[in-house]
Amino acid sequence: MGGTQEEFSKHKVMELPRSIAVGHRVIEDTGKLCADTGLTGKALIIQDEITERIAGKRVLEILESSGYEVIKFNIDNADWKNVKIAMELARKHRAFFMIGIGGGRPIDVAKCASSEFGMPFVSIPTAASHDGIVSSAASLIVDGVKKSISAHPPMVVIADTEIIASAPHSLLTAGYGDIVSNKSAVLDWELAKEEKGEDFSSYASTLSMITAEIMLRNADKIREGSEESAWMVVKALSASGVSMSIAGSSRPASGAEHLFSHALDRIAGKPGLHGHQCALGSIMTLKLHGADWEDFRDRLRIVGVPTSAKEIGISDEEVVKALLMAPEIRPERYTILHKVRMNGMEAEKLARETGVIGGE
Ligand SMILES: [Zn+2]
Repeated sequence: MGGTQEEFSKHKVMELPRSIAVGHRVIEDTGKLCADTGLTGKALIIQDEITERIAGKRVLEILESSGYEVIKFNIDNADWKNVKIAMELARKHRAFFMIGIGGGRPIDVAKCASSEFGMPFVSIPTAASHDGIVSSAASLIVDGVKKSISAHPPMVVIADTEIIASAPHSLLTAGYGDIVSNKSAVLDWELAKEEKGEDFSSYASTLSMITAEIMLRNADKIREGSEESAWMVVKALSASGVSMSIAGSSRPASGAEHLFSHALDRIAGKPGLHGHQCALGSIMTLKLHGADWEDFRDRLRIVGVPTSAKEIGISDEEVVKALLMAPEIRPERYTILHKVRMNGMEAEKLARETGVIGGE
């Protein structure tokens, strides 16, 4: 007994969504879900022209018939300018909560604007292309550069599988890619724990890894136009979002493969979908980790997730440049790319050996 035991001083807040409704036509329950969660007063809907047609119009009707007053704001981009406009609208009209309806951008704007006020927000995804539909992480253009922003998670998520299954299939396969890339993200996190003593959560990392494994195992069940597939991907994205809430950061679902994707967003003339780029990054960083990257790649192929730069529409040079730039995007987020520090030739070799570049 005795000795100098360090005093326990950890403290943190795990912010989680209150309700995640997923399934056939759950959008019809929007009024009830909002009321059950204690959301009253005026709602500010943030959407774009397309998502208004797909879901926003219906949400407006349902909310109005449930007694809500609604104002709407159609955005043209996910940038800081639109976040400010949303905040001004909310202030001017005394909105009590916000609703983001879309694939990514309207949800990101609603998430950031509501977070600035500490105001609740509802996420109504029209596609399941990334875990931002459930998590506190947003991606926003600030001063012309796409940035990852930590805001707050939605209070309610309403993921209608009929709507999500009707979205272009590439969006669902991107969502799949974002989930399975958790596999390399967790390996990076473990590496940072071991080599840098970084804070680590066994619960968050296990949940994140298991979610990726379940999706990889069920690769053959992800089919175009299927509500069942939409259901599986949304549930996995939700679990992934919860793992980030438990960790209090995006660590469990964002490692070197995400840095690679962020680098591509800056470098590539025409970047691909977030989840596709992350999956591509994972193929390469899994190899660096000594994990079974070939099995991972084969499962991506079953789902129809691109496994080469060419399929995404980016050049071989852009891939190599992004691999080199990735560690600079977040120097403090230690990953395998920070450890290995490849030169141009090594990066090209890695991309070539994994078939990411150089295919005919
Ligand atoms: Zn992601």
